[in-house]
Amino acid sequence: MKDCCNDRSAQNPARRHWLAAAAGAGGAMAAGLALLPGNAAAASLSQQERDAMTPDQVVDMLREGNARFRSGAMHSHDFLAQKRATVSGQYPAAVILSCIDSRAPAEIIFDAGIGDIFGARIAGNVSTPDLLGSMEFACAVAGARLVLVMGHTGCGAIAGAINGVQLGNLTGLLGRIEPAVAAAEHAGERSSHSPEFVDAVAQANVLHTIATIRRDSPLLAELEQQGKIRIAGAMYDLGNGLVTFLG
Ligand SMILES: [Zn+2]
Repeated sequence: MKDCCNDRSAQNPARRHWLAAAAGAGGAMAAGLALLPGNAAAASLSQQERDAMTPDQVVDMLREGNARFRSGAMHSHDFLAQKRATVSGQYPAAVILSCIDSRAPAEIIFDAGIGDIFGARIAGNVSTPDLLGSMEFACAVAGARLVLVMGHTGCGAIAGAINGVQLGNLTGLLGRIEPAVAAAEHAGERSSHSPEFVDAVAQANVLHTIATIRRDSPLLAELEQQGKIRIAGAMYDLGNGLVTFLG
């Protein structure tokens, strides 16, 4: 195992291809990962690589990963190698709170691999006490640098909230989205029949969820005030595959 301290990417991780520890580029190695020489497969993040990143650099790398996804130029992921590399530890750079929608899988649309991001998924990407606990674990215990709340276009949970759907335990969940229904800025028809309004509510819901996280998790709010993490929002467009970061 080479010493990863001399890896150029660790000095300037934002310039480094997202999670691509090419063995020939200086020996960047995830813990326990032994990439074969010349193997350009993406590797999981090492602790040193993750800890060297600023929250803004994590955002930049997510942007780059999404650009690769949109262009079809995704990295070659050896998931078995990533699995082996992360058995003894994980150093994800971000925790992504996103919807359960099958069309919005964070790892794929950011071209990430095993061990790279914590995935917190719930219909409508709302915040709940247990999810706050999960995100607090991700950042305060495991060292993630970014909390990203990601909504998406055409969200059925958002449409359900607009329609006031009542169904089992879903009723309470959709109730968490109601403040965004009222807050969404939209000049036209304010119903679920308007795709533009549904997407406006989805965006307002992302911002509302961020505010909820800051309000209900003093731990995460303090980490953000200290500059140790960033709490950011994004919208994923199901049509063109673009993730737009908010703010
Ligand atoms: Zn959704």
